Amino acid sequence: MRLILVGPPGSGKGTQATLLCQRLGLVHIGTGDILRDAVRRGTPAGKLAEPFLLSGTLVPDDLVNELVNDRFRRDDRPERFVMDGYPRTLAQAAAFEQTLRQQFLDITAVVVLQVDDDEIVRRLSGRWSCPNCKATYHTQHKPPRRAGVCDECGTALVQRPDDRPETVRRRLRDYHQTTQELLPFYQQKGLLRQVPGTGDIETIYAAILKALNNQEGPAC
Ligand SMILES: [Zn+2]
Repeated sequence: MRLILVGPPGSGKGTQATLLCQRLGLVHIGTGDILRDAVRRGTPAGKLAEPFLLSGTLVPDDLVNELVNDRFRRDDRPERFVMDGYPRTLAQAAAFEQTLRQQFLDITAVVVLQVDDDEIVRRLSGRWSCPNCKATYHTQHKPPRRAGVCDECGTALVQRPDDRPETVRRRLRDYHQTTQELLPFYQQKGLLRQVPGTGDIETIYAAILKALNNQEGPAC
């Protein structure tokens, strides 16, 4: 089985990727891992990517494609995998298709976790933590006894910049903008499987398996 997992930030995509790997024996492939690995190995693409890794800036599309392509050309190329965070754009999808074709591999399905924007904002912007003792809270699921104050040590709670509502909205706009191009590409190939990303972890996992089995017959 070869999957591409797509979902907005806060959709639980990483958790589901981990479960799919543990239970179906797939390899989890994230671009971050590929990037760090290439830098460590000192490959030509890795050398080009190193400054981006060090400065934390976005690696250009072409270079990401090259890094992924290198990974699939190695002797230990993954044959059963979950792609997490790649391809992100239409250009990456086209490049990835070519990479796989050269390896005589194809994609089984593209699973899209669907969660409403408002729900994502609630999930992410509710997260607060204590800068002193590192205790974590959620305004809805695990509120502190006194609003904005750590139960354990009385320190004022802080929010990660990425979790501020306006930042979450901006990340969601970026997500919709890129997937708007990406998803029709896979839809045309009949590979797209939309799965509700709501409920607990096991409910979502079961929904993913159901969506996959509907196309492939009995469970693998
Ligand atoms: Zn604390």
